Amino acid sequence: MRAPYIVVCVKQVPDSAQIRVHPVTGTIMRQGVPAVLNPYDLFALEEALQIKDRLGGRIVALCMGPPQAEAVLRKALSLGVDDAVLVSDRAFAGSDTLATSFALASAIRRIGQEQPVDLVFTGKQTIDGDTGQVGPGVAKRLGMQLLSYVCRIPILDMDTRSIVVHRWTEKGLQVLQSRLPCLITVLEGVSEGRFASLPEMIRAARQPIRIWDRQAAGIEDLTKIGLKGSPTVVGKVFAPSRRAERAECIGWDASQPGEAAARLWEKILARQPEMAGKISSDHGGENGQKGVSS
Ligand SMILES: Cc1cc2nc3c(=O)[nH]c(=O)nc-3n(C[C@H](O)[C@H](O)[C@H](O)COP(=O)(O)OP(=O)(O)OC[C@H]3O[C@@H](n4cnc5c(N)ncnc54)[C@H](O)[C@@H]3O)c2cc1C
Repeated sequence: MRAPYIVVCVKQVPDSAQIRVHPVTGTIMRQGVPAVLNPYDLFALEEALQIKDRLGGRIVALCMGPPQAEAVLRKALSLGVDDAVLVSDRAFAGSDTLATSFALASAIRRIGQEQPVDLVFTGKQTIDGDTGQVGPGVAKRLGMQLLSYVCRIPILDMDTRSIVVHRWTEKGLQVLQSRLPCLITVLEGVSEGRFASLPEMIRAARQPIRIWDRQAAGIEDLTKIGLKGSPTVVGKVFAPSRRAERAECIGWDASQPGEAAARLWEKILARQPEMAGKISSDHGGENGQKGVSS
């Protein structure tokens, strides 16, 4: 049995808790904002690491970004991946999701020349671009089966080269079986992430990272990357306006819950009279509570 060869795509993103939008230009103010590994990608990493724990194999962490994005690859190395590739070139500047997926797919193809890739993992989305398009884009370009929004991988059989995943959809849980190779986008909260020990961090800090420019990543066609390869136009970036209303305490008397509920309905009706038809008195409780008819 051949052990799995896995690529995990990880992106460096600004720490969203500290991000601000410029009030005049509407652009994202990145200066002084610390960069972190996209939190959703930690779940993808953990799934790959658990497969390696069970079946052995090798994991390559792949990132496209500026030189400082090396930091997220070091984090991945400290958690247990074996190898790291940073695809970095000025020619990638301004890439939208189409160009990003092209560059990542080219790099994965190149990684696959060393040994065929069985599985590619991505996060479900990033916390900055937030589109969730890159994983599916990479799968399409590589001709790999896409398994999106995966929350569990109960079976990976390298002998039969098949995988069974659990996938959350709006209608419920799907159990899907696929052949390898495939690309999996991983849902958040799937499993608890692991922490790196100090020796692991020191080892990761010393480990070499392969840095590929566009040629090394196997990209000949300049019209497929950077601004030239990016048909998306960002119309406007803005922070949602703050809600003017403040929360109001309507009071609560535990012995008279119906009164508080009635006062709340009065307020709702004053603001949204169309809700009137939705209130039915036959749901009234002991204290005259009213319910919303379904
Ligand atoms: C016209 C235009 C110009 C842009 N210019 C720039 C720019 O100059 N600089 C800039 O930083 N951004 C730029 N962006 C944003 C950039 O397109 C996105 O950040 C990028 O395409 C990834 O999309 P996303 O963040 O929505 O990823 P998603 O599709 O939400 O990501 C899903 C998953 O794909 C993987 N992934 C995504 N991106 C990467 C990556 N780079 N490396 C490894 N794995 C990845 C991760 O596993 C991630 O969880 C631009 C966007 C547009 C539309």
